[in-house]
Amino acid sequence: MSHSPEYEFTKSLYDAKQSYVTNLECSITGKDDYKAGEIHGLSEAGRPLLVRYDLDAIKNSVTRDEIEARPGGFWKYREFLPVNGGDNVVSLGEVMTPLIPLDHSVPGGCDVIVKDEGRLPTGSFKARGLALAVAMAKELGQNHLAMPTNGNAGAALAAYASYAGLKTTVFCPDDTPIVNIREIELQGATTYTVNGLINDCGKIVYDGKEEMGWADISTLKEPYRIEGKKTMGLELAEQLGWEMPDAIFYPTGGGTGLIGMWKAFDELEKLGWIGSKRPKMFSVQAEGCAPIVKAFEAGEEHAPLWKEAFTHAWGIRVPIAVGDFLILRAVRESGGSAIAVKENHIFECRDRVAKQDGLLLCPEGAATYAAWELALEQGQVNTSDKVVLFNCATGLKYPMPETDRFLDKNQPIDYNRFK
Ligand SMILES: *Cc1c(COP(=O)(O)O)cnc(C)c1O
Repeated sequence: MSHSPEYEFTKSLYDAKQSYVTNLECSITGKDDYKAGEIHGLSEAGRPLLVRYDLDAIKNSVTRDEIEARPGGFWKYREFLPVNGGDNVVSLGEVMTPLIPLDHSVPGGCDVIVKDEGRLPTGSFKARGLALAVAMAKELGQNHLAMPTNGNAGAALAAYASYAGLKTTVFCPDDTPIVNIREIELQGATTYTVNGLINDCGKIVYDGKEEMGWADISTLKEPYRIEGKKTMGLELAEQLGWEMPDAIFYPTGGGTGLIGMWKAFDELEKLGWIGSKRPKMFSVQAEGCAPIVKAFEAGEEHAPLWKEAFTHAWGIRVPIAVGDFLILRAVRESGGSAIAVKENHIFECRDRVAKQDGLLLCPEGAATYAAWELALEQGQVNTSDKVVLFNCATGLKYPMPETDRFLDKNQPIDYNRFK
């Protein structure tokens, strides 16, 4: 089977040189003797591990211009990714996701752009993290992957793992949108629904992983999903001419993307590819599940379990996050904030952007628009600020309002009604 030139080019990038990974480091204690090339979960302290690179070597081996000239999506950031060898690269036709300005649904003069992640394989930005997690599992010889999911992560895991020939078992809350559950199963994962939330599903994986020999691919419990999500920051920097926007609004569940982008900006500054300016990072949650917002407001470093979590923005219905302190640190260091939005506000914003700008946001993406509106009202951002909202998935995977206009073809049609 012959692949596209982009695909062949991507593989050749990974065959041409080894990764620049030096070691992995505990994100809370700084203990840094976790070796590359070995299987890792959380650190000994029970917190996420961060992948470290030889940034000087990267600086000497590639330029911004060379990266910009490469075709394809996130795999092109080869020097910033941990995979060794083209055969471990799993690619389903990734694209650089577009930046779409909102021209009609925001007040005149506002510079608000949406990074539309719904265009990635499996329709969400989970593709970034899971492509990397699957590639690394393949490289490290893991062959049965398990995860809890609110839908999109499971779909991306299933697709990439099936492509790579790895087995997957997935657990979702039983009220996950049906399209997600079926999609996961159809793409090759054995899928179970569970009468609980994502953390209950996570416990099933945690308790069973030793007996089953599962690789636990839960958010931040293996080190490589962050590296995949980091490419959002690399891509954004490249697309904006290596200038940071004034603010980024990110819908926060486990926080992988926010933590990943923050790491990307740090790596880019160390290479001298961007300056010291950082966007204000806004962590967006729903009022029915806002552990990070509560901890932010209370000045805490950690965010305890949120009880009776509720929201129809499933991707951010995450009652507890193992990387809570990393999200909170990034938000605070950036001078940003954590904002909770009302459920009905989310859907009002989804409808407005769809009707006025022709862009169907997912509820989590619509939540970032709602949070931006609040931040503007409260003076946390200005109308002149360049703002990036993340639409993390295609709006097509979520329930939509019913329509009930009907025509009987056997009756005379009153064309006046269409005026
Ligand atoms: C997973 C997900 C999120 C949350 O992303 P994190 O980086 O884990 O915080 C938000 N929206 C959608 C649609 C998701 O699938």
